[in-house]
Amino acid sequence: MNRGIYMDWNATAPLRPSALAAMTAALQEVGNPSSVHAFGRRARAWVDHAREAVTALVGAKAPLVTFTSGGTEANNLALNTRYNRPLIVSAIEHESVLRPARLAGAQIARVGRNGEVDVAHLNHLLDKAGAPAFVSVMLANNETGVIQPVAEIAHVAKAKGAVVHCDATQAIGRIAVDINELGVDYLTMSAHKIGGPQGVGALVLGGELPVEPLVQGGGQERNRRGGTENVAAIAGFGAAAQDAASLADSSRITALRDLLEEKLVAFGLPLTVFGRSAARLPNTTCFASGTKTAETLVMALDLAGVAISAGSACSSGKVRPSHVISAMGFDAATAGSAIRVSLGWQNAQADIDQFIAAWGRVQRAGLARSDDADSRISAA
Ligand code: PMP
Repeated sequence: MNRGIYMDWNATAPLRPSALAAMTAALQEVGNPSSVHAFGRRARAWVDHAREAVTALVGAKAPLVTFTSGGTEANNLALNTRYNRPLIVSAIEHESVLRPARLAGAQIARVGRNGEVDVAHLNHLLDKAGAPAFVSVMLANNETGVIQPVAEIAHVAKAKGAVVHCDATQAIGRIAVDINELGVDYLTMSAHKIGGPQGVGALVLGGELPVEPLVQGGGQERNRRGGTENVAAIAGFGAAAQDAASLADSSRITALRDLLEEKLVAFGLPLTVFGRSAARLPNTTCFASGTKTAETLVMALDLAGVAISAGSACSSGKVRPSHVISAMGFDAATAGSAIRVSLGWQNAQADIDQFIAAWGRVQRAGLARSDDADSRISAA
């Protein structure tokens, strides 16, 4: 069956065969990793092995990795550990940072037109905070792919006594990530962006730092996250982390992404490629042609067998322009027509050709602007 072309890897990546194999094997174990008997020890071995692989992917130390139910929980857990520090986050964070941050009355650091966090503004907010702050800035943006100056931010912030968290969910497996080189205290990872299963992630510590649990329970994960570990999912995460470490497809995928952008430009329509002048993830392009809404484009391309995503988020049945593109200073019409194409190891040049052919047909079809997109949860 032809399931079409998948170009939405920033939403989720396909499960790697190695992850599927590890999960299938781990699911056949009986033990609880906390049990002292041989069954328990076998289950524990899967978790320990995965912890080593996940640790190695970001240059950390194994005891400093806490498994969670995903990137969302890891981000919430990090922010829950800010104690009474004033909170500063960037305007382009994922909702799993932005929502708890807003509830906590965070100060929001601006971004420039190219999608990079404005370090001077963040510095100003640090000075204004009145006490050492807790700063959260992502490593790569999920919509634009723009890589943020996290090492510089960590340097500036820590000189002022701040604690720094980095959501590296979209960066791991795509660019080299080293928690020590970044100089951050807390780092978020998610398995399903690198070919592991959905519903598992990790919060990694840069040293012996506290974690204020969100889930209280039987003392698992060194009292940082209660509940019997999701052994199979963790095993799958470990296998994916091992495979992802080589960044094997990186230059091939960059070339595909660049080819796609060249072909889009060649159409001659007005085109904005967001963050093009900044350092970006190899696999991501986000653009707007201004001719149709993102919802219309996503639906029309889906009908043409191409899966991409809107740069806009939608929740509670209300479509709103992308907060990321808006924060970069673009107007609502531009932000509302931005779409994101994100590639991965299964994509080939034929997919780019097919995307471009479909794009051409959709543009020529003269579909009316549509604001009646149905309710869905954003898969950012
Ligand atoms: N942060 C970023 C930057 C993301 O793109 C995502 C996934 N959409 C998350 C956090 C949340 O990760 P998860 O889906 O594992 O909860």
